[in-house]
Amino acid sequence: MTTHREPLDSVLETVGETPLVRVHASPDEVPVYAKLETFNPGASVKDRIGKHMLERMLEDGTVSPGGTVIEPTAGNTGIGFAVAAGQLDVDAVFVVPERFSVEKQQLMRALGAEVVNTPSEDGMSRAIERAHELAEELDDAVVPQQFRNPLNAESHYATTAPEVFDALDGEVGAIVAGMGTGGTLMGMADYAREQGVDTRIVGVQPAGSTYGDLFGEETEEGEYKTEGIGTHDVSTNELVDPEKLDDLKTFSDEAIHGEMARLAREEGQLVASSAAANSLAAVEVAAEIRDGDVDAPHDTVVTVFCDSSERYLSKGVYREFAEWQG
Ligand code: PMP
Repeated sequence: MTTHREPLDSVLETVGETPLVRVHASPDEVPVYAKLETFNPGASVKDRIGKHMLERMLEDGTVSPGGTVIEPTAGNTGIGFAVAAGQLDVDAVFVVPERFSVEKQQLMRALGAEVVNTPSEDGMSRAIERAHELAEELDDAVVPQQFRNPLNAESHYATTAPEVFDALDGEVGAIVAGMGTGGTLMGMADYAREQGVDTRIVGVQPAGSTYGDLFGEETEEGEYKTEGIGTHDVSTNELVDPEKLDDLKTFSDEAIHGEMARLAREEGQLVASSAAANSLAAVEVAAEIRDGDVDAPHDTVVTVFCDSSERYLSKGVYREFAEWQG
């Protein structure tokens, strides 16, 4: 539970220690609990990596106060880094493909960061390339590269996972999380293994994402509207280790947006599409554990509600669902 009752000096002290709340669509025998990452100051799970990675990089001299952090990002990572950078005296520049949510880009700018757009059709690979070009033009600039930097997963190993294990007295049967970089899931998986618990580890992606390639599956690549999770090129990711995954679940945009609407209506949860994908997957895993279809050391499932639907209202996330339903 959030325990910040005493006056705090910096907004960075409010990163983490988010509430863990029951998802009521889960079976009573195997409850699902979701970590409400919207309670972070930048309102997403990515505040954790912004704070943790930047603090570590300042400690080991990868960047100095007055230097610049440059990251290719679809948005939440930018907001997370911008919150931390502003408080730690580091400049922030983000390279964002145009198609990503305007709300996120506005928030990055509001936090004092510079946003550089790249054409949507060139994808994330062009954004990554552009970030490195910009870094070469500056003196003390670092590109953290969340898709390959072990500090990303370490952020969740150091914060998200211990918070969950503490809250549930170590009784964590399964951890279910959508994979963007995979940092959340891999970091939590590492922590679970270290506890000596054989917690089931399940990844989540939208249909059209190709994380299945890691398992030698022939997945059909396609566009999807779900934001923050999935990949079109597994080779750009150095964090996801298929050996650490027990299962990978895939859902259509329609199913995910239906769950998003249900979470708002029935559970008072104004969370976005990646959280809805996690909810669907976690409830499925809970049913599998209840029915004895899979092994898990405890009758609980934990997932993450990564960010808020408010961040995507301009995209018509709730309206689109109504249209899909006719
Ligand atoms: N959901 C949202 C909304 C995100 O922005 C992200 C980060 N890309 C994720 C889920 C996935 O987190 P991770 O990168 O740790 O896999």
